[in-house]
Formats: sequence, C-alpha cells, structure tokens
Amino acid sequence: MIKLGAHFGISKGFANVPEVMNEIGANAFQIFVHSPRTWKIKQLNVIDVENFKNKIKKMKIDKESMLVHSGYLINLASPKDEGWKKSIDTMIEEIKITASLGIKYFNVHPGSHLSEGEDFGIDRVANALDIIIEQIKDFDIMILLENVAKKGGNIGYKINQLGDIIKRTNYKEKIGITYDTCHGFDSNYDIRTKDGMDNLLFEINEYVGIDKLKMIHLNDSKFDLGAGKDRHEIIGKGFIGEEGFKNFFKYEKVLNTALLLETPGTDEDHRKEIAYIKKAIAQ
Ligand SMILES: [Zn+2]
Ligand SMILES: [Zn+2]
Repeated sequence: MIKLGAHFGISKGFANVPEVMNEIGANAFQIFVHSPRTWKIKQLNVIDVENFKNKIKKMKIDKESMLVHSGYLINLASPKDEGWKKSIDTMIEEIKITASLGIKYFNVHPGSHLSEGEDFGIDRVANALDIIIEQIKDFDIMILLENVAKKGGNIGYKINQLGDIIKRTNYKEKIGITYDTCHGFDSNYDIRTKDGMDNLLFEINEYVGIDKLKMIHLNDSKFDLGAGKDRHEIIGKGFIGEEGFKNFFKYEKVLNTALLLETPGTDEDHRKEIAYIKKAIAQ
C-alpha cells in the first residue's frame, strides 16, 4: 500500500496527529517536535506522549511512515561557533524527543555555510553530525539530510553534496536522505520527464545509494525549473504540474517511499489534495 501523508501541526498535542491524519485519508505524517522558528523546547507532556504511542500501535503506523522535521534555526554548517554549538545541542534534544515518541526518521536541512564556501560547509556539517550521533547512537534513529533549494549559501542542493556529507562522517549507517520534489525542481532535477527521472535516480544511487532514500517531500513548485526560489505549490497547480507528477508516480522507488505533502493550505485542503494524488497514482 502507498504511504501518503502530509505535515501536521502539534498545537493540540502529539496524540491528536494520528487522528487528523486518519480523517484526511492519509496514512503517513511529518511533524515538528516544537515551534520550528524558536530555539525553545517545551517539556514533554508524558500523558500526551503515551497516548500518541498507543494510537500509533493501534493504528499500526510503521516507522517508514513517520517523520520529524528539525527546527529551522538549526544550521549545522554555520561558521559561527556559538550558533553551530547551539544547533548541535538543539538537534540532540529534538532527536531525544523523536526517539521518545517512537519515531525513527529525523529530517534536517544540511545548512548554510554563510559564504565560507561549500567545502567548508560540507566538513562542518559532517563534524556536527558526528558529535550529534555520538550522543544518540543507542537510539533507533536515522538522520535524513534533505535536498534544499540553491540560495543563501545552502549546501545540499545537489545530490552529490548530500553524498559528500555522508562520506565524511563516521556513522554512515545512521544517515539517509529525504528528497523534496520542489527543492529538486529548483535545482534542475526535472521529474516531469523520463530523462530527468533517470538522471535523478542515477545520482541518488551513485552518490548516496538508492536504499538511503527514506522519505519524499511531495511539493509542486510556484517557479519554473532551476529557479532556486523554494516556493511550494499545491500538487498539479505548479510548474511540475499534473502531467509532471504522473511521470513521477510511474517509478516503483517513488511509490515504495512515504510521500509527505508540505504544500500550502489546511488539513482540509490536504484531504482534497490526497484524494487527487490517489487518483493520479491509480491511473
Ligand atoms: Zn525541509
Ligand atoms: Zn521539504
């Protein structure tokens, strides 16, 4: 069965997420574990966590269908020591919460080198990951590096950069990747065509290993191929478009990986979008 879902808010508690997921016809989800634009992490509500885990068990939601996205202030590539250390400490805390929720996959953007250069940034991220994983290696956790749009000194807009980060760490088995279709389109990965898909899957296999692709962020793009703008659009309404996604959904690896929407709109909007995607896949 296809794993299809979206990003859900946690303002009503973690235990609310599986229910809302179910209501909109989804069977997979992504969440933040705290407000993503702040460093602050609230103390966990033990009862909420227990309720969440009970629902996951009852609904038989497996680990391949659940993802935590890190906060946005984390920058593992930062050349500034204070911000870099704060990023490492915060990410360790976020991962501990992820593990206590029984979730395995933790998604993070590699970060921005802030004009220090890509090679510096790649080393910096790899060093940060080694420090982090040293602290959490006993948990059933896998860190997924997400491909991003090329802007603001971001590292990871090409698959080989994700591969280079993994190659420079000491814990390769603890690291995988998430592929974001909008960010990839921003970086000239054209999933609308057979050639584009062949190239993308070749690069993933060549630089990272196809088995390390664990999650897909399913987003259309408000801007055309290669724009590097990072503006997500509703599936079928953007430049990837209806026909483009029909091509994307032809690939077995795509359909065997959890597809998570990060498109604009409410849970109710996502309900319609999920119905639309199910139809597109079935065709
Ligand atoms: Zn992201
Ligand atoms: Zn994404």
